[in-house]
Amino acid sequence: MIADRYGYEPQSRQCIKEMAELTQAINKYWRKRNFGGSDRQIAEAEDAVLDEMADTQIMLWQLKYLLGFGNGPLEKRINEKLDRQVNRIKGAEG
Ligand SMILES: [Mg+2]
Repeated sequence: MIADRYGYEPQSRQCIKEMAELTQAINKYWRKRNFGGSDRQIAEAEDAVLDEMADTQIMLWQLKYLLGFGNGPLEKRINEKLDRQVNRIKGAEG
């Protein structure tokens, strides 16, 4: 409903914005963890990551819908990538 209301162009821009916010939140969380953030600052930064992950996931679902990527093709692509990475790890260990 939301995706249909706004359409691809605005939602693709919004997706880019949310991904940038997620990048920033992950970086801030990393800085707080690695450069002496207080427990409270770390907890807040972690919560910001959760928030931006939710925003980004919502936008990815909308783009998936607006671009007509069904569950089949996307899940197939995801599984191929996961299989390849697992095989790389197994190869490196073997
Ligand atoms: Mg956001």
